[in-house]
Amino acid sequence: MSFKLDLDTPSYKGTVSVNTGLFIGGKWVDPVEGGTIDVVNPATGKRLVAVSAGTAKDVDIAVDVARKAYQESWGLKVPGVERGKMLYKLADLIEAKIDEFGALETLDVGRPFYMSKNMDVAFAIAGLRYFAGQADKIKGETIESSEQKFTYTRREPYGIVGGIIPWNGPLLSCIFKMGPAVAAGNVIVIKPSEFTPLTSLKVAELVNEAGFPPGVVNIVNGLGSTVGHTISYHPQISRVSFTGSTLTGRKIQEASAKSNLKVVTLELGGKSPNIIFDDCNLAQTAKWSARGIYFNMGQACTAGSRMFVQEGIYDEFLAAFQEETKVWSQHTGDPFDLETQHGPQVSQIQFNRVMGYIDSAREDGATILTGGSRHGKEGYFIQPTIITDTRPDMKIIKEEIFGPVASVIKFKTEEEVIKMANDTTYGLACGLFTQNGARATRVAHALEAGTAWVNCYNVFDFNAPFGGYKQSGIGREWGSEGINEYTQIKSVHVNVGMEI
Ligand code: NAD
Repeated sequence: MSFKLDLDTPSYKGTVSVNTGLFIGGKWVDPVEGGTIDVVNPATGKRLVAVSAGTAKDVDIAVDVARKAYQESWGLKVPGVERGKMLYKLADLIEAKIDEFGALETLDVGRPFYMSKNMDVAFAIAGLRYFAGQADKIKGETIESSEQKFTYTRREPYGIVGGIIPWNGPLLSCIFKMGPAVAAGNVIVIKPSEFTPLTSLKVAELVNEAGFPPGVVNIVNGLGSTVGHTISYHPQISRVSFTGSTLTGRKIQEASAKSNLKVVTLELGGKSPNIIFDDCNLAQTAKWSARGIYFNMGQACTAGSRMFVQEGIYDEFLAAFQEETKVWSQHTGDPFDLETQHGPQVSQIQFNRVMGYIDSAREDGATILTGGSRHGKEGYFIQPTIITDTRPDMKIIKEEIFGPVASVIKFKTEEEVIKMANDTTYGLACGLFTQNGARATRVAHALEAGTAWVNCYNVFDFNAPFGGYKQSGIGREWGSEGINEYTQIKSVHVNVGMEI
């Protein structure tokens, strides 16, 4: 089965195509039980294509071929430098199709084309090259104990790992699981989100040409309750890396605990604070804060959705932020339009969910200052929205909305805002804007989050570790920590003269 579409849009003219089967053992196969899932274009609400949907049986097959590949043609049998070369080649192959990848991601997720191409796809390519470069730099250490004995450590791959990914940045999530896993010598079974499988499948089309032996990379599309659960539970998968909601993260840890206690990395949700002090650079802060919340239609795990503004600058900032919000609103529309900055939510479910949160804010007595409604007549567009007059106990303050909804809250002192900001079960990211260097450092250290942005927001570097505090996750992706997560340490004790 395959998907092919001719596009004639302001930003992409040409054909997009992708195989829609399951990619197992280097081949495209149909699911054993023959299921399909509809993939919908969020900008129109119309079906794009039905892709194959696997079940537990397909995961079992993928695990079998992956194990064979690991034992016969991968792992430490292939030197890191060779594994790296394949990742470099894959990066080159994706780069040669950067526009098509961008167009597929836009069709599938609704993200404006220039963002899909220049952020998602470009970042995925750079990420692959980063991990390619890491593949031959994995090393242990030597530990001296006496002249008669020393110990050395090895970082060995786990073997078969699973990757379960969400819909909000599907290509990046796929690459950030696959890249470090295979760089470290593992084989992988990846389950894309059932809503957005197209770019992961497009990557699979290039895997053989990049030189990976069959079975090293496998993509099994399907539902979370079947394919996702089987990967989490599978006794032969030794490690699973998950990105998605905290609710699902719990289920994955539970399934793993009930089966083989596999090592679990969880990259989960957030309710990140963005703190704006009186002494910030107002114009820059308003722009960064808008990017902090509206980027990717608010569908970013790091979204700065709780904006705390100090009382001395509150009115002035709110006015500037409203102006910035207007810019995003005015550039809402067809994601293939060159001017579009703000596209649709990914699905009807997400649209309903976000609108439900806005309604709950109204019912709880908050003020919808800007936006708060559907944009246009078709697709899942929601206007960038500012909400004020909130209370800490409101649903919109406590729960992750995952939409373009900013709650603006007034505060008086640094001490007070640190308490308010940390009053959440999440701890993924935070931002703060001030021109006082000492305060910037103090507050960045006091906030309970895995990433802190000072005078910027939602800027990412894959050579810096990324992950959550509290219920935003376990473990780190990216950077050398990210690749180390895909290795397990063995200590080898060597006797060179000790007698018993
Ligand atoms: P989700 O948890 O609904 O789904 C994520 C993936 O898990 C999907 O592939 C889904 O099919 C699968 N899944 C669902 N039920 C499962 C089960 N019982 N067992 C195994 N797998 C199962 O999340 P989503 O709606 O796709 O993504 C949005 C969430 O992801 C948000 O909470 C967001 O904050 C989070 N996220 C976090 C990061 C991060 O790096 N921390 C990045 C992106 C998204």
